[in-house]
Amino acid sequence: MIQPFDDEYFMKKALQEAQTAFDKVEVPVGAVIVLNNQIIARAHNLTETLNDVTAHAEMQAFTAAADFLGGKYLKDCVLYVTLEPCQMCAGASYWAQIGKIVYGASEPERGFKNLKTTLHPKTKVVEGILENECSQLLKRFFIEKRNLN
Ligand SMILES: [Zn+2]
Repeated sequence: MIQPFDDEYFMKKALQEAQTAFDKVEVPVGAVIVLNNQIIARAHNLTETLNDVTAHAEMQAFTAAADFLGGKYLKDCVLYVTLEPCQMCAGASYWAQIGKIVYGASEPERGFKNLKTTLHPKTKVVEGILENECSQLLKRFFIEKRNLN
């Protein structure tokens, strides 16, 4: 039997958000937050549009999810994000007490793993879901951007 609501399914939704960011000439990172197999928040990076370095996809997704739930904690929620969260977003996920983080591409330089940012002790992590698709979109973005300059 096909499982329709698996990690790849939701990562594809996060990738759609990343594509939207790409189309706005934003670094293409997308995120969705899922509760009981239902998407309760969608967001993409908007740092250029909002002129705000904190406007990462995850930050906006946390805010939107908390808004939707009417509570700040996201203990039973899963964050799907196309790129490994940075320190800021990992820190925010600690405060939100997110249940699980699933990410696509790794970010060895600014990702939380190598920088050893502490997640909430109850937060589970799954990495490498649709890693190729997620990193290809980022690579394509930076190549095209370079060609524009
Ligand atoms: Zn971030």
